[in-house]
Amino acid sequence: MRKKIVAGNWKMNMHDIDVIQYLKELDELSSTIPTDVEVVVFPPAIYLDMVTNLTDYELKSGAQDCSANENGAYTGEISASMLASMDNEEETKRLTYCLVGHSERRQYHNEMNELLASKVNQLLASKLMPVYCCGESKEERESNNQEKVVKSQITKGLFHLPKEKFSNVVIAYEPVWAIGTGLTATSEQAQEMHAYIRSLIEEQYDVETANSTSILYGGSCKPSNAKELFAQPDIDGGLIGGASLKPDSFIEITKAFN
Ligand code: PEP
Repeated sequence: MRKKIVAGNWKMNMHDIDVIQYLKELDELSSTIPTDVEVVVFPPAIYLDMVTNLTDYELKSGAQDCSANENGAYTGEISASMLASMDNEEETKRLTYCLVGHSERRQYHNEMNELLASKVNQLLASKLMPVYCCGESKEERESNNQEKVVKSQITKGLFHLPKEKFSNVVIAYEPVWAIGTGLTATSEQAQEMHAYIRSLIEEQYDVETANSTSILYGGSCKPSNAKELFAQPDIDGGLIGGASLKPDSFIEITKAFN
């Protein structure tokens, strides 16, 4: 069985007082979260400590980015091992993930697939799970190149991994034209791409690996459309931007699985 995951990407939003309030509200609502859904929050890195330690609910957390390097003269960067060292609890570890290759990092920081492969390696070496983001632009979809683009992103960023390591990766398919735009991929478009990604994993590794990889959809996912998206056989949850900024709408999405 694949893990069902609902993850919130806060991007560069919220200050400490907002985070405290958010976590309080999330705790109050937490009894309504289905027990078979893993809930993850990706706050700005300076709030990771709060998110990781201030809830009674077993909220998982993750960073929005990490360095492609192990350590050294890289001003402003945070290494995967630094992130991992923020939560040393073996059994109840909460800080378990890191986003890699979100389209905003690809677009505004020119992050290429090869660099992202190094970030993936750093994270896995520190026992953190990469949530590897992929997805086509509007022009690429309009020219029917979406599969070619996603295949290249996944092949270059992930398929250098041996099977045992790949099993610690989560994939987020996020069509760039749907992120923050209010436009959502139809459930058919999303399912088609998720099934395609799963077929690539099967081709590269094997059917068990393909069937056990969680593939999340991201792009204007919200309470009103999550049910239809999550009903698709290859959609294992969502990476949520805007709708994750309010605990009530975020928690509502966790209830959207059948
Ligand atoms: C995202 O940035 O990962 C995202 C999916 O954003 P939104 O839900 O706001 O489209």
